[in-house]
Amino acid sequence: MEKQQFKAESKRLLDLMINSIYTHQEIFLREIISNASDAIDKLAYTALTDEKVGLNRDDFAITITRDQEHRVLTVSDNGIGMSREDLEENLGTICKSGSLNFKQNMEKNEDIDIIGQFGVGFYAAFMVASTITVVTKKYGEDKAWKWTSDGAEGYTIEETTRDMAGTDVIMTLKEDTEEEKYSEFLEEYQIRSLIRKYSDYIRYPIRMEVSKSRKKEGCPEDAPEYESYMEMDTLNSMVPIWQRNKKDVTDEEYESFYREKFYDYNKPLRTIHVNAEGAVSYKALMYVPAKAPFDFYTKDYKGGLQLYSSGVMIMDNCEDLLPDYFRFVRGVVDSQDLSLNISREMLQHNRQLAIIARNLEKKIKSELTSMQENDRENYEKFYGVFGRQLKYGTVSDYGAHKDSCQDLLLFWSAKENKLISLKEYVDAMAEGQEKIYYAPGESTERLAKLPQVETLLAKGYDVLLFNEDVDEFVPQTLVTYSEKSFCNALSDDLGLQSEEEKAKAAEKTEEMKGLLTFVSEKLDGKVKEVKLSDNLGSHPVSLSPEAGMSFEMEKYMKRTNPEFAYAVGRILELNPEHEAVKAMQEALASDPEKAEDYAKLLYAQAELMADLTLEDPVEYTRLVCKLMK
Ligand code: ADP
Repeated sequence: MEKQQFKAESKRLLDLMINSIYTHQEIFLREIISNASDAIDKLAYTALTDEKVGLNRDDFAITITRDQEHRVLTVSDNGIGMSREDLEENLGTICKSGSLNFKQNMEKNEDIDIIGQFGVGFYAAFMVASTITVVTKKYGEDKAWKWTSDGAEGYTIEETTRDMAGTDVIMTLKEDTEEEKYSEFLEEYQIRSLIRKYSDYIRYPIRMEVSKSRKKEGCPEDAPEYESYMEMDTLNSMVPIWQRNKKDVTDEEYESFYREKFYDYNKPLRTIHVNAEGAVSYKALMYVPAKAPFDFYTKDYKGGLQLYSSGVMIMDNCEDLLPDYFRFVRGVVDSQDLSLNISREMLQHNRQLAIIARNLEKKIKSELTSMQENDRENYEKFYGVFGRQLKYGTVSDYGAHKDSCQDLLLFWSAKENKLISLKEYVDAMAEGQEKIYYAPGESTERLAKLPQVETLLAKGYDVLLFNEDVDEFVPQTLVTYSEKSFCNALSDDLGLQSEEEKAKAAEKTEEMKGLLTFVSEKLDGKVKEVKLSDNLGSHPVSLSPEAGMSFEMEKYMKRTNPEFAYAVGRILELNPEHEAVKAMQEALASDPEKAEDYAKLLYAQAELMADLTLEDPVEYTRLVCKLMK
């Protein structure tokens, strides 16, 4: 029979894995058992609506058989089984979704537990087995198939027979070497302890013949004799972790369940275990991850919680259970109040499900709030990874979800030099301060040095420094927070002038009208307006965007939607008290050419300060050199 090759990518991965020094070989059993359990889940689900399956919940089991003499370990299940096409598709390609990510990490050469991370699954068995044979029959089909492979060389498939639907994974273990004692995996105690460690919560019995001893019949009480015998025993406790009492579950158990279930090798930042009784009863076990999956901010990412109904998995990613803004949460929900034979489509309109979703949302929000208040360090870690999602949540649907999201946001405080919430900002507002000031830009360091920010800080007012694309949409969507309106410190009127100061400023503007018109003309259409400002502190000039706009948005559009990019009108502000501006004013009378050079130089400086690229760097350098002569 001709051997078929694994798909190219699979082969490389398989080689890597078999020779990998990173992994713990023992996890192969967990992977094989978890596949068996998934396969049973599928048939158990089918059995709910299809009487022909002929199996009850109690009939499902995973069976382990050991043949120490021939070094063969077999894991059998009476689950859904595989057709010939399934075999090709599933066992001919390795970890379709995870492989890309896997390779990236390998290239970075990180010392990580590759299998633990991505659940390479079935292939893990090649770490301990020299040959693997899979005998399988798919539910509803007549033919059974035998797939055999001895590793990277490829595999064969031939027809065979099997009574019932299900799968046997038959592993011939490698020969023992000095370092590796593969035969350990045939020992009863070893298998028992691996099941306890990794697969205890599997909801179907994992059964194996184990040795027991009993008193020989008829022997005297004072000198009893014992004999050993073999008996089928269930090795796992079968209680899913979410069904257990919170106080009986250790942190380690929560963590290892998370890692296995969600293929994340990082410790979760928060574990949320809910046991709700009431209008609807359910158990939920949710986690806030420490790292975002590589595809989190793309549309490939599947959010949602795994949904169980009385211990039977009915949906892998039930999106209706989680609002989009909390899509980073991973976890499971199990409720006996959901009808078992409800169709997946009907779940969408299910009242109980809607109640659960609403409660979970509240719970997640309160956990995040408590983390924000009491465990700031971890909250900031979380926020660094998923904060953007919460900002999206705040601004999406025209702010419909702001009540759930706005208090979870953090922004950089120019005054405190750390991340603070909007509430913390408002609580700390200075006497007489009316507005929430923010300044959008690329880097918080540079923003902190901008004249308007310096002016506000000098008055004792804090400024939130926005450095993410989405940030600016937050004030635009919220309009107010705690009845305080937002003010863009770089483009809006800061509202700091008294009536008297305003009158004085108007006078000054009138006085310097000649200069303002001159500068505007010489800049030749580059600016929309030239005006005076008393907010510039020690700086001579500043460039601000026309009202309601920002340069960050201009840059953002240019980057993301160049066809819709637009130029935001520039407003040049001059500080009438600054020496440079005074010098320009003087030159205007005596040497207009010089005054024009000054105007261009100051404009270029303003561009640089605003984090914009110089429109004409050659001209700027020429002018600076001319000035130095
Ligand atoms: P994963 O389980 O992460 O999808 P695996 O490599 O472990 O990756 O398995 C690949 C696929 O092979 C599974 O998704 C499943 O469709 C199929 N499979 C594996 N083991 C079994 C089994 N015992 N019964 C039925 N299908 C199986």
